[in-house]
Amino acid sequence: MTPESQLRADIVEVGRRMYSRGYTASNDGNISVRLGDDRLLMTPRSVCKGFMTPDMMCITDLDGKKLQGDRDPSSEMLMQLDVYRQRPDARAVCHAHPPIATGFAVAGIPLDRAVLAEVLTTLGSIPIAEYATPSTAELPAAVRKFVKAHDGMLLANHGALTLGADLFSAYYKLETIEHFAKISLVARMLGRENLIAREEVDRLQGLRANYGIQAPAPICPDPSVVGDLLSGPDPLTCQVVQAPEGDGRRLVPDPIAGGNPLSGGDAHGSDGDQEIRLTYRELSALIEDAIRSLR
Ligand SMILES: [Zn+2]
Repeated sequence: MTPESQLRADIVEVGRRMYSRGYTASNDGNISVRLGDDRLLMTPRSVCKGFMTPDMMCITDLDGKKLQGDRDPSSEMLMQLDVYRQRPDARAVCHAHPPIATGFAVAGIPLDRAVLAEVLTTLGSIPIAEYATPSTAELPAAVRKFVKAHDGMLLANHGALTLGADLFSAYYKLETIEHFAKISLVARMLGRENLIAREEVDRLQGLRANYGIQAPAPICPDPSVVGDLLSGPDPLTCQVVQAPEGDGRRLVPDPIAGGNPLSGGDAHGSDGDQEIRLTYRELSALIEDAIRSLR
């Protein structure tokens, strides 16, 4: 097991990287690691993550009771604690506000399209936990919907959250999310995302085992083939990835609708004709609305 002194130093280093990369401003963000099975080492509240020292950290139990430290634990301690409760395999949790990923979280656009092979083999999809008031019990409740099947997610109008088998693995997932968001933003500004076809997504998922990647859940089967039309795939048990059938092609061009190049989740035009294509989720939402209005 890594000595406590090393873990304190690692939290300082990860905080410094988060701040220097602009993932946090001022006193934003928080970081924690497990100290054995029943204690956590956690960043204190109201400190800039770029200028921490090892002695600043708090030690708490898994109920949030402070056991050691001069300062109070992070204001997002409730969220941090709940992640460990839901995911016994998690050894570290990082939370920050990386600006491009958070921009997607503000726009309500999940990073769940099949775009980058690297992301599909590691994180799978990056959903958005619904908006909750920071530092309250609402936030862990919102995160709970996705945390069993995902190692990383966006928090609506707030930021991003990642977890891992060790601190640097949790931190690198934060980097991956921001990097993915940056690439997606550029592709959308250029007017097109070529999507990786469903068959290739399945092939990439098979590579997880080859590379020893411990994903918390498999990528959901294609919702257009299986599953309940209204509820769709369950984000508690699998990762929803938007990937079209390729019909032999491994990449499927997907032009972003004209006039709204960053929409991503809205209806897409097709060559200016009258065809409107909807994602599975959008179609389900329309059907749910229609049924609601009949009641
Ligand atoms: Zn935050």
